[in-house]
Amino acid sequence: MQREDTLLQISTMMALLDGVFESETSYASILEGHDFGIGTFDHLDGEMIGFDGSFYQLRSDGSARPLDPETTTPFCSLTRFTPEQTLSVNQEMTKQDFEQWLSEQLGTINSFYAVRIEGQFSEVKTRTVARQEKPFRPITEAVATQSARTFEQTEGTLAGYYTPRFGHGIAVAGYHLHFIDKERSGGGHVFDYTVNRVTVTFEEKPRLDLRLPTTTAYREADLESHDMEKEIKIAEG
Ligand SMILES: [Zn+2]
Repeated sequence: MQREDTLLQISTMMALLDGVFESETSYASILEGHDFGIGTFDHLDGEMIGFDGSFYQLRSDGSARPLDPETTTPFCSLTRFTPEQTLSVNQEMTKQDFEQWLSEQLGTINSFYAVRIEGQFSEVKTRTVARQEKPFRPITEAVATQSARTFEQTEGTLAGYYTPRFGHGIAVAGYHLHFIDKERSGGGHVFDYTVNRVTVTFEEKPRLDLRLPTTTAYREADLESHDMEKEIKIAEG
């Protein structure tokens, strides 16, 4: 098994559900060997997207800036992305139709995949969570302070992962995608989109390197009493 097959997962969605928003894991300590990923920042200070070795922080004020490696992350998914397949779509497709089609192309829906969709979109709806202060509220309440934005007739990149249903709680089952526009001026966590003319690349990641936090906040978190399905739906859309 090659290291390139590995998806590095820092903490879990379950931990975010319970408000474990602080981390001792710096991006500097985990970026080496990786050129692709999505995630968040300490205190949920925005959304992370990275591809081709360039990583960005998308913040709730609408800004985008290169990621500062000294920042820490309470949740992220990193990998080295070497596309196995390149496909083109040259027609409008809604998120639902597109993702159903894409799942038929994957080969199996029982593995993890890194996914990149690049080109022209009729619409991309995003959100970016605002930085949270202590005492932390559950993420289902934290997202009330998110700022939503709709990009219309935009060019840019969606990057993220496909997670099989059994991975829900570690990550988000189905497609968890983040967006940044071509100008690298804005983006966020993706709620909805319609593709227009895009190139789709993906790579199967059959190996998961899951690193759970060892902080007191994580060790004392209540991960047992959440309605996982419902709360992830509220938090991640
Ligand atoms: Zn996200």
